[in-house]
Amino acid sequence: MSLLVASVAVPRPLRRLFSYAIPPALAPRCRRGVRVVVPFGRRKLTGYLLEVLAGDGPQGFAGALKPIEQVLDPEPVLDDAVLGLARFAADYYLASLGEMIRCALPGMQAVVRQVASITREGRAALEAGGGVLRDASLPAIASDPAAREILGVVAEFTSDRGAAIRLEDLKRRVGPRFKARDLARLRRAGLIEVTEIAASAGPRPLLEEHAILKTAEGARGGRQRLVLDALTEAGGRLEVSELLRRSGAARGTLRSLERRGHLALETREIPRLPVSLEMPVLDSPEVTPTTDQVKAIQAIRDAFAAGTFTTCLLHGITGSGKTEVYLRSIEAAVQAGRRALYLVPEIGLTPLLARRMRSRFGEVLALLHSGLTDGERYDEWRRIRSGRALVVLGARSAVFAPVPDLGLIVVDEEHDASYKQDEHPRYNARDLAIMRGKMAGAVVVLGSATPSMESYLQAQSGRYRLLPLPERIGRAGLPPVARVDMRQEFEETRHESVLSRRLLQALEERLRRREQSLVLLNRRGFSTFALCRACGEQIQCRHCSIPMTLHLRQKRLRCHYCDVSREVPASCPSCGSGHLHFGGTGTERLEEVLKGALPGARVERLDRDTARGRGSVEALLTRVERGEIDILLGTQMIAKGHDFPNVTLVGVLAADALLGLPDFRAGERAFQLLAQVAGRSGRGEREGEVIVQAYYADHHAIRFACEHDFTGFATRELAYRRAMNYPPYSTLASVIVRNRSEDRARAQAAQVGQVLRKRAGRRLQIMGPAPAPLERLRGEYRVQLLVKAGSRKEMQAALAETLTELERDPGRVERVAIDVDPMSTL
Ligand code: ADP
Ligand code: ZN
Ligand code: ZN
Repeated sequence: MSLLVASVAVPRPLRRLFSYAIPPALAPRCRRGVRVVVPFGRRKLTGYLLEVLAGDGPQGFAGALKPIEQVLDPEPVLDDAVLGLARFAADYYLASLGEMIRCALPGMQAVVRQVASITREGRAALEAGGGVLRDASLPAIASDPAAREILGVVAEFTSDRGAAIRLEDLKRRVGPRFKARDLARLRRAGLIEVTEIAASAGPRPLLEEHAILKTAEGARGGRQRLVLDALTEAGGRLEVSELLRRSGAARGTLRSLERRGHLALETREIPRLPVSLEMPVLDSPEVTPTTDQVKAIQAIRDAFAAGTFTTCLLHGITGSGKTEVYLRSIEAAVQAGRRALYLVPEIGLTPLLARRMRSRFGEVLALLHSGLTDGERYDEWRRIRSGRALVVLGARSAVFAPVPDLGLIVVDEEHDASYKQDEHPRYNARDLAIMRGKMAGAVVVLGSATPSMESYLQAQSGRYRLLPLPERIGRAGLPPVARVDMRQEFEETRHESVLSRRLLQALEERLRRREQSLVLLNRRGFSTFALCRACGEQIQCRHCSIPMTLHLRQKRLRCHYCDVSREVPASCPSCGSGHLHFGGTGTERLEEVLKGALPGARVERLDRDTARGRGSVEALLTRVERGEIDILLGTQMIAKGHDFPNVTLVGVLAADALLGLPDFRAGERAFQLLAQVAGRSGRGEREGEVIVQAYYADHHAIRFACEHDFTGFATRELAYRRAMNYPPYSTLASVIVRNRSEDRARAQAAQVGQVLRKRAGRRLQIMGPAPAPLERLRGEYRVQLLVKAGSRKEMQAALAETLTELERDPGRVERVAIDVDPMSTL
C-alpha cells in the first residue's frame, strides 16, 4: 500500500517545505489549503497543507515521516489567489512561506497548550521517597521538597490513557512555591515530560441555539410546562441557555419537547461586527467633484473599463480631496460587479473613515485590522471570502484578504512606513498590492501628498499613470509656513524655552478666536535622556545602545526600542553622584509646558502612551472633531490624514530632530512628516498657518517642506539617491546578524559576507560587515551587511543561495535577518 504524503509550510524561519505522512483516517480531509497540526521538533505547529503526493510505500521514505496529527478546517482556508501572492512574497522577501501564510491568516492559529505528564522514572522517583535514605541512583532534584510537590501534582493528573495537566493548572495548584526552574530541572532529569497539544482550531463561528415555540397544547406538567410557559412569555423564541435558566429545566427536557413537536431547536450564527461598523454612521454631504477630481476618477474608470492591470499614482496635495476620488472609483468597481480593496496605514488613526464608508456602502463593507478580536476578524474574513462583502477596508495584512474577483485596489498614503512589516517576514503591503493587482488583472491606485521616491520615479518614467490633484478643495489654499530659528530665539530671550514667542502668541490667538491647534513633537516621554553632570555618563538601556526616556507619570525610565523600564535612580548608576540631569523634551513635558503657559486651554496629548486601550484614539479624535479640545499635541500620530476643518494652526517642535539617525531615507521621512502635519492646517474655510521650530533648519527636507515644494524636494532627493546608488536607482537589502556575544556576531557576519561574496558575482555591491547604526538591541549585538544591486533577480538569487547554504544549520540561520527593500538601514 502506498502512503500519501503532504507537503506542508510551517511558520518557522526556514524557507523549505516539510513532508508529513497522511494517516488514512485523515486522508479525505487533507486538501490543498487546509490548516493542519503537525509535530515539529518538540513542538506542535499550525502548518498549511500545500500539496498531497503519493509516497513510496511504508518501507521507504514516507514510512519514516511523522504523521499529520489533525486537520483543522473542513474547507480550505487558502485559495489560489492568496496562496499565489504568499508564494510570490516569500520568494521576493526571501522569507519562509509558512510565515508569510501566517500573515495572510492573522488570528487563525490553532490554540496550542503545553501539558506536563510524569515519566516512568518520575513515578519511580516519587515512590522511592525523598528522605535522607534516598536512593543514590536517583537525580538530586528528586529529593528537593518543592520539586517533589510538582512531581506529586503531575503524577496525580497523569494517566495511562494519555491524560496530562496543563501547565497553567499545574502552576495554580502548586501555588507560590512553583518555580519554573524546578520544573526545568525535573524535565532535564527525565522525570517529567512537557509536550504540546492542539486544544482548539482557533476562532470559529459564533453560534447561538434558539428554542422556538410550536404549540403549548397537550403538554405535560412539571418542567415541561415551565419551559413552555417561559417560552410563551418570551414571545415564542428564546436563546437556549437563557430558557434553561428561566425554567430551571435541563437539556433533556428540551429534547423531549422537541420530539413531541412542542418546540423546535435551531442553531444560527451570530455575526460579530467590528465596533466601528456598529457606531452610528456618519453622513457626509454629497459633493460635486472638482475638475481635477473628475479627471482622476475618469482615468481610473477608463483603466478599469480596459480590464487590464494598471497602476495609477494619485498625487494630490493635502486637502485636495483624494478620499472622494477613491470612494467614487470604488463605487464604479462595485457597479461593474467587481470588488474593491482599500488599504490604509493604520485604521485606528482614521476612525471616522470606517464610519463614512459604512454610510456610503452599507452592509457590503468589511473591515480588517489588528484592532479586531480574533472572532470579529474571522467573521469579517468569512464574509469577504464568501463574496458577500464587496468593499474591504483594511490595514497592512488585508492585502492578503480573500477577496474574490478583485477589480480595484486603493493604497492610501502609499509612502507610509507602516505598510512595511517591521518584523519577519518583512513585506511591504504597498508593493504586494501592486503584485496582487497584476495577478488579478485589477487597477491599483496609489495615493499620497508626498509619494515615495520609488513610486514617484515610476510615475515619471510612465510606468505608473500619474493623476495630479494640485489644488486644495477649500478657498484657503495651502497654509504659509514660518520657520523659527531657536538659536536666534535663545540669543534674543537669553533663556532656553520649549515654545518660541511666535508659536506661543499664535496659540493664544487661536484660543481667542476659538480655533484649534495641533502641536507636533515626535518624541514620547518627559525627558529624552538622563545624563550625570558629574561623570558625563548617559543612562542607557541595559539591552540596547539607546538612551532611556523618563516617563514622569509612570515614574520610570523606559527604553523605546525594547520597552524595558526601570525605576528612576536617585543617583548616577556609574559614579554615585546625585547630580542627574533629565534633558530634552518629550510630549509628556510639552503637555505640562502648554498647560502652564496657556491656563484654561483644553490640551490633550496623543502618542503611544495615551493611545492604549481599544477605542481610546477614536474617542480622542472624535472630541477634536467636535471642537472639545483646543490644542492636540503629540507624535506623528497627529499628522495622519485627519481632516479637522477648525484647525488653523500647526506647530512643529524640534523639526531638525525628525532627521534622526543617519539613514538614506531620513530626509524623505522628515519631508513627508512635515508636509503631512502642515497639511492639517487650514483645511476648512479659514486660512491656516504653520510654525516650524528648529535649531538647524537648513536641511533641504525642512526647507522644501516649508515651501510645500514636493517637486523641488524630489528632484534634489533623487539626485542624491542616484549619486549614492540608493533606491530607487538600485535594489537594496540589509542583512543583519544578531548575537548576544559581540564576537560571535562579528564572526558569523564575516562568514555570511564570505558566502554572499562568493555567490554574488561582480554586479552586486556588498558593503560590510560593519556594526549596524543601532549596534545593540534587545540584548543582542547587530552586525550589518548591505547589498546593492542593479538587478533584483541577481540580488534575489545571490541571497537565496546564501540562505540555502546557511540553512544547513537552522540555529544559525535564525540569527540572520534579511530585509529586502528596507525602510531604513538602522
Ligand atoms: P486629502 O485626503 O487629499 O488630504 P480629503 O479627501 O480629506 O483630502 O478632503 C479634504 C476635504 O474636502 C474633506 O472634508 C472632503 O469632504 C472635502 N471634499 C472633497 N472633495 C470635495 C468636493 N468636490 N467638494 C467639496 N468638498 C470636498
Ligand atoms: Zn555619574
Ligand atoms: Zn532597550
